[in-house]
Amino acid sequence: MAPNHSDLSKPPRIVLCPRCRTPVEWVEASRFRPFCSARCKTYDLGAWESEAYRVAASEEAPLSNESE
Ligand SMILES: [Zn+2]
Repeated sequence: MAPNHSDLSKPPRIVLCPRCRTPVEWVEASRFRPFCSARCKTYDLGAWESEAYRVAASEEAPLSNESE
């Protein structure tokens, strides 16, 4: 029950997609906000997972420093 003052005359709020910096209108229709699309949303999640995996895997990196 929010009073609908003059929202129609205001432009929608614009945010930048964290993935590709595409301006996204912060409206109901932008289902993947703050991302511009489902692709960017899933890509970001995938990048985060692979980053975590890489950190975990790097602990097993062999050290070739055995000659003393
Ligand atoms: Zn994007």
